[in-house]
Amino acid sequence: MGQLTSSGHELTPHPSDADVIVVNTCSFIDPAKQESVDTILEMAEYKKTGRAQKLIVAGCLVERYRGDIQKNMPEVDAVIGTNELEQITALCEGLEVKSNPLDAYLYHDLTPRVLATPQHYAYIKIAEGCDHPCTFCVIPQYRGAFRSRRFESVISEATRLFSQGVREINLIGQDTTCYGEDFGLKDGLAVLLARLAEIETQHEKWVRFLYCYPNKVTQQLLDTIAAHESLVKYIDMPLQHASAAVLKRMKRGANGDIFLKLIERIRKTIPGVAIRTSMIVGFPGETGEDFDELCQFVKAAHFDRMGVFSYSDEDSSKSISGRAHRGIRTGLASSAFDASTRYRRRVLHLRSGRGAVARRRIPHHAHPGSARL
Ligand code: SF4
Repeated sequence: MGQLTSSGHELTPHPSDADVIVVNTCSFIDPAKQESVDTILEMAEYKKTGRAQKLIVAGCLVERYRGDIQKNMPEVDAVIGTNELEQITALCEGLEVKSNPLDAYLYHDLTPRVLATPQHYAYIKIAEGCDHPCTFCVIPQYRGAFRSRRFESVISEATRLFSQGVREINLIGQDTTCYGEDFGLKDGLAVLLARLAEIETQHEKWVRFLYCYPNKVTQQLLDTIAAHESLVKYIDMPLQHASAAVLKRMKRGANGDIFLKLIERIRKTIPGVAIRTSMIVGFPGETGEDFDELCQFVKAAHFDRMGVFSYSDEDSSKSISGRAHRGIRTGLASSAFDASTRYRRRVLHLRSGRGAVARRRIPHHAHPGSARL
């Protein structure tokens, strides 16, 4: 959006007013793919009823299904992957685009931005890609290897945002706790947070980060959060499960006891800290005992917030089983967390990675949300 406005284009939230409609997509799990496809088809209608001349599809759906979108969705005029964002203006203007979708993209402090958040807070992406091998996750396949933004680039962007009136900055990335590892910075996230905390601002400021990988939560990181008033006393740490057997098959390792000790250390180091996590249920091979162990763990951990997600069998993930574990999913829904699950018949106009046309019954979890426990 920043690149378009800086080259003189006007943005509108009303698709009926747009000359070019860009749909930014997600393809992490089936419901996200479905929502993306639904939105593309909905926006395509404006080429008939509005003034739109062109429909462009951007984002992760393109990374996973570029050829299929081009072949099976004639409504779409052009696609642009996550590494080609700098071509968006040329594409909207109908110019010839020369880019290599495999060149890893990472924005920087001089990249024009339009904040899509309310004025008082903003997100800053500090790294892109991921080197972890979680078997249920397809993100590394299309976001690429882990790479951090330069330290001073992040500081410079944060300083500018604070000076523009932003009060709270949220640092994001597929794995924020690896920040700086790729350029040899030890405890890089802790160092970055300490530096962000020192930025002088006219108003009170907050800095928080999301998505800790549990075995990367170091004592220096916790000490840094405790030491600076402006660093929000909040740890968002997806644990995904508590059973050692399930975590091993997820290729994440550890177990509930290790996590409980870590949680105890976090609470001891940062008085008053709020801890959020997320869990996956129905992972292939999860037994009733594994599920009970997870429930016991959740009771013992006393999380402040928790999101629970049904396992999604993704066609290119290493954990693909070809079948859903709905018995355990619905067991979870009715017993521990009251998650609502409903199914609807949808047709995906995309070929799956294994060569079949996907025409299947998929779960729709519009907003799994967080449960207060
Ligand atoms: S750490 Fe997160 S992004 Fe990386 S592979 Fe695991 S679940 Fe995916």
